[in-house]
Amino acid sequence: MVRNIELSKRQDLILEIVKDEGPITGEQIAEKLNLTRATLRPDLAILTMAGYLDARPRVGYFYSGKSAPQLLGDLARKKIVKDFKALPVVLKESSSVYDAVCTLFLEDVGTLYIVNDKGYLAGVVSRKDLLRAMLGKQKIEDIPVNIIMTRMPNIVTCFPEDSILEVAKKLINYQIDSIPVVKEAMDEGKPVFEVLGRVTKTTVTKAYVELAGE
Ligand code: ADP
Repeated sequence: MVRNIELSKRQDLILEIVKDEGPITGEQIAEKLNLTRATLRPDLAILTMAGYLDARPRVGYFYSGKSAPQLLGDLARKKIVKDFKALPVVLKESSSVYDAVCTLFLEDVGTLYIVNDKGYLAGVVSRKDLLRAMLGKQKIEDIPVNIIMTRMPNIVTCFPEDSILEVAKKLINYQIDSIPVVKEAMDEGKPVFEVLGRVTKTTVTKAYVELAGE
């Protein structure tokens, strides 16, 4: 993993040589710079790991043609949902709004995922959904969450193999705070979702901080 995208003068020189003359072997680059292959080895390793160069055995080094922002984008796409997801906080459809509010505080989350009696995703309840329900005259112990939830098929979901970048775009486009991580299953011939985890704005922030460290 590379700590710094900024290149040293020598690394810049190597890039120029490979751009002009690639494919070119390590020995040939070393000769051009009047250095030993051993001195050059760490620079070549850094340039290859950072994605500036491609190395092919017995052929040599190629310039990958990617700019620093493109390389940063490549790194960002490697941050995958399954490595960052948190445990989901789920509640049954038959639970009351009162139960939902208690769970929200106990579990310290902003969004609850609502599941049907078979455990499959049925809806999502957020802070504002609960506040709205509390504005009405009815006692919140008597209101089932499935009346106030946003329900399937309108739930924005993601899969464990999706990139955090895709999830971040969904959070922005749909103006939501949280997305359930799901696995597709079949129930009586119909596609359903098992809930595996959750990704939130905090998840995306964590991935961003990790990326900055790289
Ligand atoms: P808050 O209520 O705290 O602003 P959100 O912005 O996440 O939280 O929720 C806004 C609305 O979007 C709510 O009505 C909620 O039910 C709905 N919602 C939240 N997450 C999702 C999701 N993953 N898919 C579809 N709708 C969602």
